[in-house]
Amino acid sequence: MVSDERGSPIHAYRGELLSVPDDPAKGGRVRHHLDGLLVVEDGLVVGFGDHADLAGRFADVPVERIAGLIVPGLIDCHVHYPQTDRIAAHGEQLLEWLDRHIFPAEAAFADRAHADRVAAFFLDELLRNGTTTALVFATVHPASVDALFEAALARNMRIVSGKVLMDGGPEMLRDDVASGRADSEALIARWRGRGRLGYAVTPRFALTSSDEQLASAGALIAAHPDVLMHTHLAENVGECAAVRARFPAARDYLDVYDRFGLVGPRSVFAHCIHMDDPAIARMAAAGAGIAFCPSSNFFLGSGLFDLARAGACGVKTGIGTDVGAGTSLSILSTLGEAYKVCQLRGTSLDPFRALYLATAGGAKVLGLEDRVGGLQPGQEADFIVLDTQATPLLARRMAGASLHDRLFGLQVLGDDRAVARTYVAGALAWARDRSVTR
Ligand SMILES: [Zn+2]
Repeated sequence: MVSDERGSPIHAYRGELLSVPDDPAKGGRVRHHLDGLLVVEDGLVVGFGDHADLAGRFADVPVERIAGLIVPGLIDCHVHYPQTDRIAAHGEQLLEWLDRHIFPAEAAFADRAHADRVAAFFLDELLRNGTTTALVFATVHPASVDALFEAALARNMRIVSGKVLMDGGPEMLRDDVASGRADSEALIARWRGRGRLGYAVTPRFALTSSDEQLASAGALIAAHPDVLMHTHLAENVGECAAVRARFPAARDYLDVYDRFGLVGPRSVFAHCIHMDDPAIARMAAAGAGIAFCPSSNFFLGSGLFDLARAGACGVKTGIGTDVGAGTSLSILSTLGEAYKVCQLRGTSLDPFRALYLATAGGAKVLGLEDRVGGLQPGQEADFIVLDTQATPLLARRMAGASLHDRLFGLQVLGDDRAVARTYVAGALAWARDRSVTR
């Protein structure tokens, strides 16, 4: 990782700034400064606005000129780091894909050295793709969380993760109620307050835990007001049918989680495709959040998430890559996929709203809206520099384009190639144009 070599506790970046701190669908204003100044002190934003307005106030501050579009660091609300090596696995839909490709890959995380290697690669890939905050599935092994958190601590990244609870999973990946609870408690105690890390109680999904373990997860969340709950919900038709068969008394899939105390303002549910209006309304009332994972939903043939309905009902929503079912760690290209899902649903996703979902909207889902996502004064200075000239086609399409069209072009044609730099808490963490050493 490249650290900030100037050593100045306060420094500024002059260039084009863009941030969407509030939902444009609810009247949130796009903050755009063509000749802007972003001022950072001790890793926090202290100024964000027009250069002409701020230059006087920060006259003594060293300024670096930045070519490109500066936006907040991207936020991935749902991704599985142990599945990195199984991205692009051919063949099945969800339940068969898990059995054939994913569970064997996750079993390898019993080896801590393997977990360390994958965690380092995964986090470096996030930085290369402009992702500075992520809610991440580990595996059932507690050491898989230690590996990820140690690597995230070394990079000063904002990572939330947790040991997967799955006492009803396949033999090679099974915990039990008591060890699942004890291991989760130990991890929460070990990592609480360290760096920019957070813990999420992580039952894999309803079918891989016993009723007792789901209840234990609910008790864990109730006991620790600073942790999130992270799981999957209503992803695949076959999965939903199996949940209905196992829980005939539940109103629906969401109600299964609700019965065990798993639906609340700190809950993050990936997918949420096959749900009716009352279930979505219940999510809104509970303050729960959704991770919309379009590339994964296309890849596994899971279905089309209804973003417009979630927005109309007021459910917090962010974007997830869901690698290994997702086909890219790039949130930019995932926004292009989100656009296509909305087209198939008969709505048009505005590029500024898409950026909101991938930054401040995602921060809200993770309960981090005070810390990251908007580059507002007082927030942590996680930001990236986007290059609209990154490829010949982008450069050609972008010539003379409006901000709206440039942003949309980056989402449809852009990916890791369009991320020129990634800054974490004000320090340069990745740069395309220099060698990166840590
Ligand atoms: Zn997932």
